[in-house]
Amino acid sequence: MKIICIGRNFIEHAHELNNPVPANPVFFLKPETALIRAGLPFFYPDFSQDVHYEVELVLRINKLGKHISEKFAHTYYDAVGVGIDFTARDLQNVCKQKGLPWEIAKAFDGSAPVSKFIPKEQFPDLYDINFSLVKNQETVQKGNSGMMIFNFEKIIAYVSQFVTLKMGDFIFTGTPAGVGPVKRGDNLQAFIGNQPLLQLPVK
Ligand code: MG
Repeated sequence: MKIICIGRNFIEHAHELNNPVPANPVFFLKPETALIRAGLPFFYPDFSQDVHYEVELVLRINKLGKHISEKFAHTYYDAVGVGIDFTARDLQNVCKQKGLPWEIAKAFDGSAPVSKFIPKEQFPDLYDINFSLVKNQETVQKGNSGMMIFNFEKIIAYVSQFVTLKMGDFIFTGTPAGVGPVKRGDNLQAFIGNQPLLQLPVK
């Protein structure tokens, strides 16, 4: 399986990192070894001094598809969860300055914890899903799927022009404003609505 991540999908987050609002989705990949299943901790890596959380809704792909049209894109995912796109911001800034790829900052082991998934049918409105991140009892990020620059269908249609989607793949759909650092000893909790779906100690 693979993990596809969308960058800059919320206007306020693009602004907070001084990035332009993109005309097309920006995406990058994380390998399977980035995945942390719900219930396991995140181990702070030695190679970074500035790891940031980015809470994101995650789509679970349920069938094979390439060149998927926007009209049928909704049939290619069956569930929505929440995950954290951990980012070594110090390394990412160096990569950006030098025009280098982002893998060392984004694709490292443990950089993609993902919650359990909620079947799509259980959402009254997929374009109005609230999600949030609480760090040590304080809400640090809040987002809503209705505020995305590129909605789920647009993301699936765009990405599948370049990369074949397969059953079991995950798509991280971008983070809202409020990203910030974590340190050892922190406790993160990611929510969809008021359901805590992912609990993650940082060790
Ligand atoms: Mg992200």
